[in-house]
Amino acid sequence: MTPTRILVLNSGSSSVKYQLIDMADGTRLATGLAERIGEETSALHHRPLGTGGEERRREERLADHDAALAAIGEQLDADGMGLESPQLAAIGHRVVHGGLRFTEPTLIDDAVLKEIERLVPVAPLHNPANITGIRTAQRVRPDLPQVAVFDTAFHSAMPEHAARYAIDVETADAHRVRRYGFHGTSHAYVSRRAARLLERDPAQLNLIVLHLGNGASASAVSGGRCVDTSMGLTPLEGLVMGTRSGDIDPAVVFHLRRVAGMDVDAVDELLNKRSGLVGLCGENDMRVIRRRIDEGDEAARLAFDIYIHRLKKYIGAYYAVLGRVDAVVFTAGVGENSAPVREAAVAGLEELGLAVDGELNARGGDVPRLISPEYARVKVAVVPTDEELEIAQQTYALVTAR
Ligand code: ADP
Repeated sequence: MTPTRILVLNSGSSSVKYQLIDMADGTRLATGLAERIGEETSALHHRPLGTGGEERRREERLADHDAALAAIGEQLDADGMGLESPQLAAIGHRVVHGGLRFTEPTLIDDAVLKEIERLVPVAPLHNPANITGIRTAQRVRPDLPQVAVFDTAFHSAMPEHAARYAIDVETADAHRVRRYGFHGTSHAYVSRRAARLLERDPAQLNLIVLHLGNGASASAVSGGRCVDTSMGLTPLEGLVMGTRSGDIDPAVVFHLRRVAGMDVDAVDELLNKRSGLVGLCGENDMRVIRRRIDEGDEAARLAFDIYIHRLKKYIGAYYAVLGRVDAVVFTAGVGENSAPVREAAVAGLEELGLAVDGELNARGGDVPRLISPEYARVKVAVVPTDEELEIAQQTYALVTAR
């Protein structure tokens, strides 16, 4: 029997998200999350799917990623789908930063792992955790192909004029300072899925994709290729996010150094963890922010308005970059669920052919759908993202082509 199952691992510094997917028919067999790894209060949530099994929660200390993967393996074993299973074809790893070298899903060997390590200075928050996840999985199944799927890969097609910062070229090249973009797996999946929803050939389509989760990014996609995206050297640039500032005058950093005596790490922490919606109103959950606005909370109102203002600027910018837009597509936690954000983001853009139908927009659901009125020249769509499925598909395609 040819193995057809792919285990997808998304390893963070203190968490591992996973899904087991059978690529023979795309069935999701299990999903789960190990969280607070290394802390006293670690926990594992495991949900077998398709077998009628109940979600299982285990609250026990997971000292490190090895312990977490062992616990995940035990849970999968209990459902007869353990890590030793001969049906497992490969493990697909989400890797955040692939730099200039990795533009495709890549089979991991020692040289590849070394190169991912070399990229740690440009992704200090993410790549170390991804590397730990890979090493842990290699220890458990050294015989199994392990594939890295990079968040930056989809954006590697960006033209030089979008990827370069206007700074001294020698300095930029010496230190690999350029715009890489992130959330690429999501932008790739969502733009292809949107083309299906629109019943159009992706090669003919110009799309603006808005991935609005806790991290948020926009991309301009033309003919299935990314031509610009809002995140840059790191995932800090661009839109206002849950805890990140997005675009800011770089001189703010020098200013805070000079007048507030903050060192680089302090400013890094400020812009990445204490900014965005949290910095503006103390809260990053859009549901809570909307509730507070309904109760008359001024700080929440202003935070929402700043968030929308930035979003609108990117819609306008990418409209100009693309010249013609067929659809604006919303995805991720906020994009999929927040009707007020979608409505506000396109409000007043009727002259650009953009509009949202109030009733369609308010309707919930977890399937791809159009929310623009029949007459709208530019379609507005909601397409739930599925980064795990995309990673599984790319991993499976690579191992079956070998
Ligand atoms: P990430 O993967 O970046 O952690 P998600 O894509 O899961 O983030 O998005 C998480 C965010 O989505 C939450 O912080 C919250 O603001 C928002 N969100 C989730 N559900 C809803 C909802 N029903 N309405 C509005 N916002 C929501």
